[in-house]
Amino acid sequence: MKQHFIGNQWVAPSSGDAIPVIDPSDGQPFESLARGNASDIDQAVGAARAAYEGAWGRLSAAERGRLLQKLAQKMLDHAEELAQLEARDCGKPLRQARADAAAVARYFEFYAGAADKLHGETIPYQNGYTVLTIREPHGVTGHIIPWNYPLQIFGRSVGAALAAGNACVVKPAEDACLSLLRVAELAAQVGFPEGALNIVTGYGQEAGDALVRHPGIDHVSFTGSPAIGKLVACAAAENHTPVTLELGGKSPQIVFADADFEAMLPVVVNAIVQNAGQTCSAGSRLLVERSAYEEVVARLSVAFGKLRVGPASMDLDCGPLIRQTQLQRVVGFLEEVRRDGLPITSQGQVVAEAPKTGFYQAPTLVRDVPPGHRLAQEEVFGPVIAAMPFDDEAHALRLANGTAYGLVASVWSRDGSRQMRLARKLRCGQVFINNYGAGGGIELPFGGVKASGHGREKGFEALYGFTVLKTISIKHD
Ligand code: NAD
Repeated sequence: MKQHFIGNQWVAPSSGDAIPVIDPSDGQPFESLARGNASDIDQAVGAARAAYEGAWGRLSAAERGRLLQKLAQKMLDHAEELAQLEARDCGKPLRQARADAAAVARYFEFYAGAADKLHGETIPYQNGYTVLTIREPHGVTGHIIPWNYPLQIFGRSVGAALAAGNACVVKPAEDACLSLLRVAELAAQVGFPEGALNIVTGYGQEAGDALVRHPGIDHVSFTGSPAIGKLVACAAAENHTPVTLELGGKSPQIVFADADFEAMLPVVVNAIVQNAGQTCSAGSRLLVERSAYEEVVARLSVAFGKLRVGPASMDLDCGPLIRQTQLQRVVGFLEEVRRDGLPITSQGQVVAEAPKTGFYQAPTLVRDVPPGHRLAQEEVFGPVIAAMPFDDEAHALRLANGTAYGLVASVWSRDGSRQMRLARKLRCGQVFINNYGAGGGIELPFGGVKASGHGREKGFEALYGFTVLKTISIKHD
């Protein structure tokens, strides 16, 4: 059994219980994790507090940056090992897992460089006063991480929190987190003081809930579903603990007839197929100007028909979904699509070599989806794209903004004025013009509005969220 990592040591769960780790490619258990509870969380928070008030808290910003840089290099040295772990654990095609391993190192590199550049300001005030602001760490931060991109989400959340000077307690997802346990071990090897970075594995309603409610936690960063995000925000409110919420999305790609289709098509395919559509910023809605709708749908159908799905180790276009219940969820959406008579235009293929016990879903293109249909409104978190036509810019905007979510959006058009008009009116946290980042871009602030959450991670902006601003007013002659 993989144990918790607390105070730079492997620690057995106080319950003695384990959680099986299932390989999504064949549906078989291949490892087990410690089933953490409130007592384990308490131990980890205690270790983090001691680090914050001790060796970790005494480091200068430059020294913290140097440690983060060492960890970034160590992760690069172990990139293939981390990628192999992530691929098996999450069912990601190896290419994607390798990109994630490179990304987590890059997050640490970015925040290593930023650690000593996070400064306050002086404020002009009345004569006889000097007023300044300083940015201080929250103290001990809690991080709840989902299973879809363990390495990347750890990088953007924990990397920034450590750079800002916090000591961290991480509760990763019960479905996939082996790579993070290895990263914590690497952090200890490069010299992170005991307790600066702690990982307690376990179920959300046990270890996760205990972390959010712990009075020793000074800030919570949660990435996951809107439903659990709401629970987390309510639980954190009991102690007035500030929360950053990175939740789901139903992100639109808006394609005008004047767009460069050659450039657009592969990006649109990738934005829904990457990670088998289990990406918060997946491009799951395709809005196309009516005059180009038939052509775009026809060309996209051809591309979808060529997609191949199989085990992570085969490194095809698409891997399995994370677990059986996720597969059932996606299948449920497609049953509704068939029942309601919506045309499934094209599907990829699950290869014959894929084990029958794995959790495979062929990428699926559904056209003419009414804007109010569940497929056009709710997050599927699978490789299913909903296409629909629009008549003009105003109609496109109404459709794009017409869900509960607001994470990212893209505009595909050669018209510069239209690009900016839409960019300003789209209600979301990121707008891509003639590209689609699918959440990519370590340097780019990321986060949502509405049901997609609040607060920003990634980029320099994330550092502000992991600090508290203090104003100091000095009266003098
Ligand atoms: P989830 O909300 O079920 O779980 C996320 C994490 O929360 C897991 O670690 C889980 O153990 C924990 N958790 C569950 N119940 C909890 C509780 N009561 N208290 C505290 N923690 C609890 O989500 P999921 O199924 O793991 O992930 C999929 C969802 O996450 C999708 O909606 C997706 O869009 C979203 N997501 C968002 C982003 C983003 O940056 N916006 C990134 C990745 C995933």
